[in-house]
Amino acid sequence: MSGISNQSRSGEQTAAGDSKSSNRRRILRWGLLLSAWLIGFGGAIQQAAAADEWKLIPYRGLKYVSAANVKDFYRFTALEENGKKLTFKSPNLVMEWELNSQSIFINKVKFVLSFPVIKPTYRTIVSVVDLAKLIDPVLRPGYIKQVGKFDTVVIDAGHGAHDPGAIGLLGYEKNYCLDTALRLEKALKKRGFKTHMTRRTDKFLELHERVKVANSIKNSIFISVHYNSSDNHLATGIETYALAPQGTESTNSGRASGTRRRGNSRDGENIALATAVHAMAMHRMKVEDRGIKRARFNVLTGITRPAILFEGGFVTNSADAKRIHTAEYRQQLANTVADAIVGFRKAVGGK
Ligand SMILES: [Zn+2]
Repeated sequence: MSGISNQSRSGEQTAAGDSKSSNRRRILRWGLLLSAWLIGFGGAIQQAAAADEWKLIPYRGLKYVSAANVKDFYRFTALEENGKKLTFKSPNLVMEWELNSQSIFINKVKFVLSFPVIKPTYRTIVSVVDLAKLIDPVLRPGYIKQVGKFDTVVIDAGHGAHDPGAIGLLGYEKNYCLDTALRLEKALKKRGFKTHMTRRTDKFLELHERVKVANSIKNSIFISVHYNSSDNHLATGIETYALAPQGTESTNSGRASGTRRRGNSRDGENIALATAVHAMAMHRMKVEDRGIKRARFNVLTGITRPAILFEGGFVTNSADAKRIHTAEYRQQLANTVADAIVGFRKAVGGK
């Protein structure tokens, strides 16, 4: 649970072994480096007092915390309730919830919670799982425990050879993935990272082989590059997946799993990496925000490194397909992901 239980803020700081000022610096850097989306996160969080505690509310077998508790803990200056909408405000940070909905927005970027925000009695509450596995690591990436330094990015181009992935209006997903991945490789090298490709030709790899590669590379993070498809040809936009936390449903299947996966050891980093990449994409690209979602894709469950799966648009939507078919768009995506990784590294305390 990333230290969110009954601990006070000061207790967490001590546990993390960090001085207050270095945490502040980290949070501020995250804010400054993650584009306009996150500017001001530090501002909201720096004013923390030591006495804040989480007051856990049991409800139907789960633990929750109240919206008021969230407001106080993160030192939002206002919490406005308007019908089903709740808005947490600070000078540069706005978080929006909606009753009975799993979608929340943090500075307009969409995240999908594992459990809906509810109001069973007089208080609006959010699950502790979502607090610990999403809200806290996104608002305070500098507090994520067990962050390893990384200097290498394992880039996984989805599909390959006899597995074309989605059959798009203008081409196969596998080819777009590979081209984008190769562009990302160059963009990351330019920014000083080492890279490792799971494939660099039109070759097929089983998902477990991709996982094996990822886990064999030291000091690395993992990005799987895909493009999306849907029977609904109107479906458009970008979505980013992080492994679903233990005991929660994945966004699309609606199936929960109580089994802890190897990848769950990186829950905090996974959601922070997804946030960095997705927020940068929303900031740079004029596309629909489909949100940061949860899944138990085989390629994510077994990875012991921070890992995400990025879906760069729909090859089955005519506007998206046209964009994806251009080198300019794929290059822009590659640059965006590369810049986001630079921001992520700084946010979690790297150089
Ligand atoms: Zn795919």
